[in-house]
Amino acid sequence: MLINQPAFEQLKSELASTGTTLIAVSKTKPVEAIQELYDLGQRDFGENYVQELVEKQPLLPEDIRWHFIGHLQSNKVKYIAPFVYLIHGVDSLKLLKEINKQAAKLNRTIRVLLQVHIATEETKFGMDESELAAVFLEQDLNHVQIGGLMGMASFTDDLEKVRQEFTTLAKLAETYRDHFKESPAILSMGMSGDYKIAVECGSTMIRIGSMLFGARNYPQNTQ
Ligand SMILES: *Cc1c(COP(=O)(O)O)cnc(C)c1O
Repeated sequence: MLINQPAFEQLKSELASTGTTLIAVSKTKPVEAIQELYDLGQRDFGENYVQELVEKQPLLPEDIRWHFIGHLQSNKVKYIAPFVYLIHGVDSLKLLKEINKQAAKLNRTIRVLLQVHIATEETKFGMDESELAAVFLEQDLNHVQIGGLMGMASFTDDLEKVRQEFTTLAKLAETYRDHFKESPAILSMGMSGDYKIAVECGSTMIRIGSMLFGARNYPQNTQ
């Protein structure tokens, strides 16, 4: 087996009573590993790199829900727009407008989450609160559906700090809940190392990679 089935079963049972969706983050992992998890019933998969996603998508079952969780460049939106299920990392109005434009061309609506900068680390992408507020003032983005927020906590052993960051994101989602097109709002937060805290703080989607697929061969922090 290419995947960690016991970890998968454990995650599923931990999440069963919470309503939190598990997204299996398969970046850098082969399609065979994705197919194994699919055969165990998993349907939500997350990828970080456009080229990798467009190569894998046609090789795998059509009913997979593909989540784009990486840093998306505006000029690459068109490649994933036809099939992507949810784009998590929308971190600028410019990107949002481009997604809207590509979705309009395809006569579809694309679901997105706005990425908020909650970590104190400089390297993480995301908007601050004033940028969020500016996005909500935009009136005519009819081909995107903003379903909620996404964030990444600091990469640290300080669990209190991680909890504070997730709490900040959950509060923002609550503050802006009338602006989201899904109810309850989607809150995408939590990875292999911090998902338990995220779920305690109200996460509705956790993004789990290494716990299911093993460690990756190249650095993950390119997001
Ligand atoms: C890689 C990645 C994950 C998964 O990370 P793990 O620590 O392997 O679970 C989750 N979210 C984002 C945005 C990522 O880039």
